Amino acid sequence: MPNRTSAPTGEEGLRHGPEKPTSVRELPRYLAELVGSFFRHLFYILSLVYEARKSILFVLTVLCLLDGVLPVAGAYLTAELLNRLAEAVMGKAVEFTPILMLIVAYFSYQFVQRINARISTMVTRIAGELVTNHIRLKILNKAKEADIGSFDRPAFYEKLENANREAGVRPVSILNATFSVISACISMVSFIVILTALHPAAPLLILAMALPGAIINYIYRRKTFEYMRRRSKDRRQMDYYAAIVVNKDLAKEVRLLDLSDTFIGKYRGVFRRYYAGIRRLVLHEGFWHIAVSFATLGANALLFLYIAFRVYRGELQLGDYSLYTGALNSILSYVNTLITTTATIYEGTLFIDNMMLFMQEPTRIVPRLRPAIQPKRGRHVIEFRDVSFRYPGTDRDVLSHINLRLESGKTTVLVGLNGAGKTTLIKLLTRLYDPSEGEILLDGVNLRDYDVRALYDLFGIIFQDFGRYAVRVDESIYFGDIHRTPDAEEVRRAAAESGAADFIDRLPDGYGTPLMRHFEENGVELSIGQWQKLSVARAFYKDSDILILDEPTASLDPLAEQEVFSQFARLASGKIAVFVSHRLSGAVSAGQIVVLEYGRVVECGRHAELMHLHGRYWELFTTQAERYRKGSDEEPPPAFQPE
Ligand code: ADP
Repeated sequence: MPNRTSAPTGEEGLRHGPEKPTSVRELPRYLAELVGSFFRHLFYILSLVYEARKSILFVLTVLCLLDGVLPVAGAYLTAELLNRLAEAVMGKAVEFTPILMLIVAYFSYQFVQRINARISTMVTRIAGELVTNHIRLKILNKAKEADIGSFDRPAFYEKLENANREAGVRPVSILNATFSVISACISMVSFIVILTALHPAAPLLILAMALPGAIINYIYRRKTFEYMRRRSKDRRQMDYYAAIVVNKDLAKEVRLLDLSDTFIGKYRGVFRRYYAGIRRLVLHEGFWHIAVSFATLGANALLFLYIAFRVYRGELQLGDYSLYTGALNSILSYVNTLITTTATIYEGTLFIDNMMLFMQEPTRIVPRLRPAIQPKRGRHVIEFRDVSFRYPGTDRDVLSHINLRLESGKTTVLVGLNGAGKTTLIKLLTRLYDPSEGEILLDGVNLRDYDVRALYDLFGIIFQDFGRYAVRVDESIYFGDIHRTPDAEEVRRAAAESGAADFIDRLPDGYGTPLMRHFEENGVELSIGQWQKLSVARAFYKDSDILILDEPTASLDPLAEQEVFSQFARLASGKIAVFVSHRLSGAVSAGQIVVLEYGRVVECGRHAELMHLHGRYWELFTTQAERYRKGSDEEPPPAFQPE
């Protein structure tokens, strides 16, 4: 992949094209960089086509060479034919055979041209599909490897979204434009060579005619482009407002609160602002183009006059008139093609820049050692040694100086108010992020030295914001451990242990029922509590060494919560078990309770010890117990019995 020479500006933003020249002396530098940037982008696109399917690049090149040469051959044949016919009119021609041969040749040319055009259409359509698919897969594979931390950075996420959104249309239009530019260049150069025979200065005159149009086009493409970039917030806002009105999940609330018109109104407001600028640009560009066409047409008329005059004087034949005027017309139309297609490429370069930057995003969560260490299975000890952490792009420690020891056979309950850093601690423990300071050791070895995939395999985890997938019920449980051959018996066991079996058995197609109604008519929508049970089943399906439950019981009713607790306790025996909970009743019999406050461990010990301290835990526990007593008749949820 070629390197970008121009560094990104601002907060990882895109700077498009070389820096504008500030003086005339900088013009050559600017033009050289412009051409360089154009070819770099072109090369990148061609390399993507090559990666997608080598043969396609070859076929497209041949077709586009033919496409470039054929019009010139056609012009020559027409001219020759006219010359022969003119000779016949004047009684100079003696034989009809050359005329016949020329007609045969002319129609053969027409035939080849049509076939070429047809094949070109077919190949570019197929190439478009293949290249789009290739780019999509490239993006998905890159996203698969990107650090979770990268997703937190708006600049990265925007690049990913842009690349993904535009991958469907941009590559095809850039590809088509690229090949039509190449063939237009070939034809144009050939016609210019033909015109040189008419007068050595003719090509210069043509260039002079084409230049103003090209400059106007370039200036306005750039203006439009910059306008679009300045207004990218507007466009994202429009997308956002439109998405709210059509969003399935928000439909209930939007309907009852009657928010549709409010958001449609916001959408229209932003559109009006955005549209005013675009209209101004389009009108100004149109005006300049019309002015330039007058001048071009005038110069063109002069050249026509010159050719006609030489024919009149007998210096040129009738066929030459057709050849030269045809060449002139063709050149002007190729210039137009070049102007419009380079505009497509120019606009497409934003996509390419974005894609290049996205593909260059480094992955940092990789094994530090090569070959990486494979974790052993069975019993483990995990140690946090003076671990501090701040999220990428922020300047506040979310965790500070954490020292902690977790071992198999002992359940740890993490306790703390919202935002204390409990989930973050879990993310470090599972190496979704690396600590900013300090180290985390698994069996005495830094987490960073392990093979990441094998390390992830040790964990059975349910996050607070667990995934809901539109797949079959049994698949959604298999997802707990996709490296193992699907085992229907195990799926049923996991479902039974998580309490999900009760509702699954009542579903119309049992374990074969599709979840959600995205794709299937018979898909089912589950309640939040049911989804949660499925996610618990997913964790129970996996035979993991380290079980982590990050407040998975928040949406469960007390009865279901009790079931999950006791099953969790049974499964957790002999394993490292970490349990994040708001409800402190679960902590009473845990092997170790860790109280987090503002990212620090403020207390650590067993229930009795911490109650005895009369500190933070005691305060939280008594407040909660009090609330239960004062509240309804509802009993506090049963204590969590890990061992
Ligand atoms: P808890 O699980 O204890 O409720 P979290 O670990 O989720 O707390 O969050 C701890 C702090 O980290 C919060 O102040 C939260 O705003 C911040 N935080 C969480 N995730 C991110 C993130 N991806 N980027 C930046 N800050 C984050």
